[in-house]
Amino acid sequence: MNDQNESLPRTPDDRLRPTLALVLGDITAQDVDAIVNAANRSLLGGGGVDGAIHRAAGPALLEYCRALGGCETGQAKITPGFELHAPWIIHTVGPIWRGGTDGEPALLASCYRESLTRADEIGATTVAFPAISTGVYGYPTDAAARTAVTTVGTAPTSVNEVRFVCFDQQTFDAYDSLLRSREH
Ligand code: ADP
Repeated sequence: MNDQNESLPRTPDDRLRPTLALVLGDITAQDVDAIVNAANRSLLGGGGVDGAIHRAAGPALLEYCRALGGCETGQAKITPGFELHAPWIIHTVGPIWRGGTDGEPALLASCYRESLTRADEIGATTVAFPAISTGVYGYPTDAAARTAVTTVGTAPTSVNEVRFVCFDQQTFDAYDSLLRSREH
């Protein structure tokens, strides 16, 4: 490649598909550029992974979030990681499961796509996702995992590695069988 080519900006067509990795563990412990938070529309903290991220990031995160004015379902907003290993947090709001006929799959796919768009904006090349909406929001694990893997696996992004961080064995197994079936 000559100098002229190297100075050209990358176009979406140049982008590679990210590598998909799978981990059983705590997302707050991940050594990545950005971790994704399954937040609620207020962005002011909550239970589950949201609570764990706020505890690990420290009180400065809540102060920062107060100025963001919340976030719509399916959208994503960036904050610093504060006391986390990860320098960035991407907060996205998953849909509440209402039986699957209320636009939930499209909204969940939007969470993954919008989060990767935010990751590209901050130049993050490694990103960790929790299983968005599968806790308090009640989204069935298998269906949510399928949307996560399909959406991330086909998204135009400059992110090199997407790590799905599962907090329990059942969620891990759902992702594992999907990722194995992609290899064939
Ligand atoms: P939601 O409101 O989007 O359903 P939850 O936090 O209730 O969000 O759950 C989303 C997923 O995150 C669930 O699978 C839950 O087990 C998982 N989870 C909870 N704590 C953590 C954590 N520290 N790291 C990774 N995943 C977590």
